[in-house]
Amino acid sequence: MLEKQSNNEQLHAGIGMTSARTRDRLIDRLKQRGIQSSHVLETIRNTPRHLFIEEAMAHKAYEDTALPIGFDQTISQPYIVARMTELLIQAGPLRTVLEVGTGSGYQTAVLAQLVDRVFSVERIGALHQRAAAALQQAGLSNVNLRHTDGNTGWPTTMKFDGIMVTAASKSLPKSLTSQLAMNGRVVIPVEQEGEQALCLVRRTESGFTHELIEPVHFVPMLKGVID
Ligand code: SAH
Repeated sequence: MLEKQSNNEQLHAGIGMTSARTRDRLIDRLKQRGIQSSHVLETIRNTPRHLFIEEAMAHKAYEDTALPIGFDQTISQPYIVARMTELLIQAGPLRTVLEVGTGSGYQTAVLAQLVDRVFSVERIGALHQRAAAALQQAGLSNVNLRHTDGNTGWPTTMKFDGIMVTAASKSLPKSLTSQLAMNGRVVIPVEQEGEQALCLVRRTESGFTHELIEPVHFVPMLKGVID
């Protein structure tokens, strides 16, 4: 808990980079679009999104839009980050979360302020390294990053309370469901017949339940790693 409080202080220091009004506008928009969790809204208000994008694009950091981060990838739209985070933590506090698709590290940063520890994997080495630097700059230390293919899960037998996949997949890889703790939840964009929808998967004593939430647009989940 102490660790998280000091993280928050460091993140608050980043607010000076943009006017409070710009961030208020983003939060108002997220509320209008139906985000209800005050924890999620406050975390997004306090997270310096400009640290996770290229300087040339920094003036758009607090707009509710996805932005290119190179290598044909994007930093997710704040609304989607808020929605997926809200779904993941809806049932109460989580200790460990696995994220597949670190990308810019922005979603990782939001999660790291709301759960005890985040484990995140990225298949593109350059993005993995850039995200590590940005997360360090944001003062977040409860994050473990790996440059690996998320189709095979986290490379231990660890179980996670939550799993968030930030690239679209035809189905939820078995290696990920096998790393989900009992009563754990997965938020994943699933693609079927060219259409993507956000899906909430829950592991219960009697098996897995699936709930389709809303249409989304994500880059595809690919196989293997590149430098
Ligand atoms: N949450 C990120 C989203 C980035 S886009 C953000 O807001 O910045 C999705 C990311 O998933 C990309 O960086 C892409 O390289 C990564 N990705 C795609 N397939 C993957 C896989 N099999 N394993 C790990 N990462 C993957």
